Amino acid sequence: MVRLVQRARAANERVKVVGSGHSFTPAAVSDGHMISIGALRGIRSIDRTAKTVVVGAGTTLNELNALLHSEGLAMANLGDIAYQTVAGAISTSTHGTGVHLPGLAAQVVGLRIVDGEGNVVVANEHQNPHLLDVGRVSVGALGVITECTIKVVDAFRLHAHEMPMKLDDALANVEELKATNDHFEFFWIPHTRWALTKRNNRTTEPLQPLPKVKGWIEKTFMENYAFGALCRVGRMKPSLIPKLATALPSSGSRTYVNDSYKIFASPRLVRFYEMEHSLPAEHLPDAMCDIRSMVERKGYMLNFPVEVRFTASDDVPLSTSFGRDSAYIAVHVYKGMEYEPYFRDVEDILRGYDARPHWGKIHHREADELATLYPRFNDFLAVRDELDPNRTFANRYTDRVFG
Ligand SMILES: Cc1cc2nc3c(=O)[nH]c(=O)nc-3n(C[C@H](O)[C@H](O)[C@H](O)COP(=O)(O)OP(=O)(O)OC[C@H]3O[C@@H](n4cnc5c(N)ncnc54)[C@H](O)[C@@H]3O)c2cc1C
Repeated sequence: MVRLVQRARAANERVKVVGSGHSFTPAAVSDGHMISIGALRGIRSIDRTAKTVVVGAGTTLNELNALLHSEGLAMANLGDIAYQTVAGAISTSTHGTGVHLPGLAAQVVGLRIVDGEGNVVVANEHQNPHLLDVGRVSVGALGVITECTIKVVDAFRLHAHEMPMKLDDALANVEELKATNDHFEFFWIPHTRWALTKRNNRTTEPLQPLPKVKGWIEKTFMENYAFGALCRVGRMKPSLIPKLATALPSSGSRTYVNDSYKIFASPRLVRFYEMEHSLPAEHLPDAMCDIRSMVERKGYMLNFPVEVRFTASDDVPLSTSFGRDSAYIAVHVYKGMEYEPYFRDVEDILRGYDARPHWGKIHHREADELATLYPRFNDFLAVRDELDPNRTFANRYTDRVFG
């Protein structure tokens, strides 16, 4: 890896690292060499006193979850899939939901990076703390992360409760729903008044997973194959979408108890385009009402829900939750359908709420605007100049978002 970076640097060529390639933006697309870190896998060491683990940067979250569980440990929070690599997930500010929990990058306490000159740099609270500070979310622009040290917690179970609720009720009661659940999120179904709510709370109750066949039918068949079939019908005949949408909220409520990582992440087999923004949490109800009115006014035919999540403020300079408790609004469009006008309209609304786009999901922002959204944007750029002065790790996407 070091030799490849040094050769590329000497030849003035570009290098990009790819994790699992699960970003919707071309964040990992290379104009030159592409490095896969798939071989850097597994847990290297565990410090049970500090509750930290050192992991190979190419370990997928799925693998990490299983390894941690076998050691009686877990990640405090996760997003809704676990196909990503550890380095890929932190590099784009990947997050889950929970008002007391920041995104994954805020759990990182150490990094090992191959910088743009081919030097191996260690960053932690004792060595190069300024690199650790900004390096936790870097969109691959500082170098190749080869190893991460991450804070973990004791393994825990979650009690999951999923139920439909009117969108207006969810918005009216959002403060209470957020505050009284460890992990609260909801999905508004466009063309209906309904939202599917998910409340996951830590529990000491015994395991009570969805029965195997029922679980497969509900999680894999209904949420993927049947939902995918509805999406295909809607793509063929968009005028049917409002009618098809009424099939979704009727899926009823369910409760189950399982190990945390089995509840956070589920299989996602339907392909789609996604855009997600974080905004100061207090603006969520107004922003959602604006989006609903815009969708009705413009007559968009949408066969995917709008997802709403929450995180705690953190101190990672390029984290989408930097310095503010955040709400996240994610919009999706089924593959093969036009997404740009809808995404641009949503983005225009969210601009008015100082929203920051997810680095790994579709957006149309550029460096000048992003610099106004991140108070420490220039600190990141300064470290980039230090680690990668020749821009070996740039690509067209980083040219756009960092200038
Ligand atoms: C179905 C689906 C569901 C998702 N759910 C969520 C969610 O719940 N919450 C959320 O926040 N996001 C979510 N995402 C977005 C996803 O978490 C991010 O896009 C994440 O970055 C993907 O990880 P990856 O390993 O595929 O990274 P890639 O997409 O391969 O790379 C992302 C960036 O990280 C850089 N990178 C990768 N490895 C390294 C390395 N070793 N060193 C330096 N830089 C590196 C790449 O160069 C690139 O800039 C979802 C995406 C999909 C497709």
